[in-house]
Amino acid sequence: MMGRIVYLDGQYLKEDEAKVSIFDRGFLFGDAVYEVTAVINGKLVDNEGHMIRLQRSCNELQIALPVPLAEITNIQKELIKKNALNEGGIYLQISRGSAGDRDFGYPADVKPTLVLFTQARELLNSPKATKGMKVITTEDIRWKRRDIKTVGLLAPCMAKQAAIEKQVDDAWLIEDGYITEGSSNNAYIVTQDGVLVTRPLSNDILHGITRKALLELAEKEAIKIEERLFTAEEAYQAAEAFVSSATTFVWPVVEIDGHTIGDGKPGNVAKKLREIYIELATKTAE
Ligand code: PMP
Repeated sequence: MMGRIVYLDGQYLKEDEAKVSIFDRGFLFGDAVYEVTAVINGKLVDNEGHMIRLQRSCNELQIALPVPLAEITNIQKELIKKNALNEGGIYLQISRGSAGDRDFGYPADVKPTLVLFTQARELLNSPKATKGMKVITTEDIRWKRRDIKTVGLLAPCMAKQAAIEKQVDDAWLIEDGYITEGSSNNAYIVTQDGVLVTRPLSNDILHGITRKALLELAEKEAIKIEERLFTAEEAYQAAEAFVSSATTFVWPVVEIDGHTIGDGKPGNVAKKLREIYIELATKTAE
């Protein structure tokens, strides 16, 4: 999307005019956190959850919010308006800022850098939702605080690139023999007995905002849920598999490491959860 209006530290600028210092710690150390909120019909989906997680990520890293959360939401809405965004997402990033040199310890009196930009993208009619995606598994080489949503994303980039080179859509990450999550989404299987299985919350995975909403919906649908570890071998034998995130909502997984899942078509639980999540998201977006 050329010619976007983006936000940088109090200013709305043309995308090619927004510039950040080479000493910014986001650039030098990956010392920054981010959030992505989905936009449908020009409205923010589940944004309160994203704001709460943003605050938590900042707290864990002792980064002070540059503006209050309510002001961030005003900026998100203003950017949607300025870019006439109907469907897609808003990316927001807060870095610790620039102390004018490179030094590991947190500098005192540094002003955080706040960046937001819109991304137009088809969410409701995504082909992956109807066809399903193929994934490979690969070793989870990320750090041990995956609950903090930092921009230090080289490991997921490497996992995704490995998937691209194998001509599949994504990678599921494995640690100590168990799936942690997808490269940029939470991972689920549905057993042959119809039990929805996903890894419990801990520092090993990102606490997905979509995951939370989906588990609440699944409970209302009387779907049996087990938050527990599962292996790739268990996933190969599952009736269904799928992922969730703000940018996919729910995407079925129809192949893992070359093993066809179920009958190779998106499963009923994934389809149902996608449908009712979109219904809820459309109704509650603001
Ligand atoms: N896990 C990882 C590693 C992610 O990057 C994401 C998306 N940012 C998620 C899970 C899904 O989180 P959410 O539903 O809040 O988008």
